[in-house]
Amino acid sequence: MSDGGPFENLRTMMDRAHEYTDVPQNVFVRMKHPERTLRVGVPLLRDDGSEEIVEGFRCQFDSTRGPYKGGIRYHPDVTVEEVIAMAGLMSLKTALVDLQYGGAKGGVVVDPKELSRDEIKRVTRRYTEGIRRMIGPEMDIPAPDMNTGPREMAWVMDTYSMYEGYPVPEVVTGKPLELGGTPGRIEATGRGVAIITREFVEHVQGSLEDTTVAIQGFGNVGSWTAKILEEFGATVVAVSDVTGAIYDPDGLDVEAVFEHADAGGMLDSYDAEEEISNDELLRLDVDVLIPAAIADVITDDVAEDLRAEIVVEAANGPTTPAADRVLRERNIPLIPDILANSGGVIVSYLEWVQNTQEYAWTLEEVNEDLERRIVKGFDDVIRRADELGTPDFRVAAYAIAIQRIGTAHAYRGLFP
Ligand code: GLU
Repeated sequence: MSDGGPFENLRTMMDRAHEYTDVPQNVFVRMKHPERTLRVGVPLLRDDGSEEIVEGFRCQFDSTRGPYKGGIRYHPDVTVEEVIAMAGLMSLKTALVDLQYGGAKGGVVVDPKELSRDEIKRVTRRYTEGIRRMIGPEMDIPAPDMNTGPREMAWVMDTYSMYEGYPVPEVVTGKPLELGGTPGRIEATGRGVAIITREFVEHVQGSLEDTTVAIQGFGNVGSWTAKILEEFGATVVAVSDVTGAIYDPDGLDVEAVFEHADAGGMLDSYDAEEEISNDELLRLDVDVLIPAAIADVITDDVAEDLRAEIVVEAANGPTTPAADRVLRERNIPLIPDILANSGGVIVSYLEWVQNTQEYAWTLEEVNEDLERRIVKGFDDVIRRADELGTPDFRVAAYAIAIQRIGTAHAYRGLFP
């Protein structure tokens, strides 16, 4: 398998999994092509009065099973190709955990750390205006992704609603509670990663007690994963952010690290037992390694030296195809992103359902539903891998998703 860019890599992986399905080639060809991709020039008025154009994208990959669904990311390295690949991943993810959604993704090429709050607000509103003709509660429902959260979703909701002339909370998920957000959405991705890690550890080696975990990335996903895994009884020994990693073989005080990060502190200013590099964290001798930051951090070099017993992909696409092959050869099992981080979109779905019914659930109800759905996804993947006689959970997960989307295509037929 070559490392040919994110979309090429996704298609190569889909080809590999397709062999384990009975989806006809002519249908499968359609499943590998995004339905539409919009590219918008977003004028941004800077606080100093100057103007610049930043690029924004929204890709709607597949809607056979339901409305498009997927986050919006703000990152200086966003490319249209990455957005398309991530939209494809969303289609597979929603199918795998059996939500009646398709897949989409949006991205804006900005570094929010370089922008003021007002500048981020203006860029969010103008980007929303740029894509508003293609989104909508029954059409395409955005959500948070890298560097976006409830604050940005509130601006998306407001901009869309202003054009409609009435409030439309169900056009976007991951909103603040006061605007129709759901309890449990903020921590949903991390909670899902923690549940999957627990299920997987119990499946392969027993119990989470005495299990050591290293987490690369301490943003929304990494920090909540750490916190909830500790509640479940695991020992989190290392976490990192862009400034470096902290390590304590006896277990970090996760609560203290969480509070430090929550107050805006970076890890290099945390008073740690030991400081190590991100690279060293990936090679630590731990039971579980959880990449929870950006794509392509587990390269083939890292995979050769990796000492963890299992890998759980909390980030989207953290393992390069070459590294994936090395891990398979080394018999290091991996739970793929489309299952491991699906807690976010599952709870997004629950938020959207509540909004469309104009009815609110309790945190307990949301968490219970999340747990039921994600554990079912896990069981389905383990069973499929068993049936296929492969320890490759990525191929098993993709095969389930491709089969579901392919069957939906077959029922609907080709228009016109
Ligand atoms: N951005 C998240 C993901 O990659 C959540 C998407 C959503 O909730 O629609 O799965």
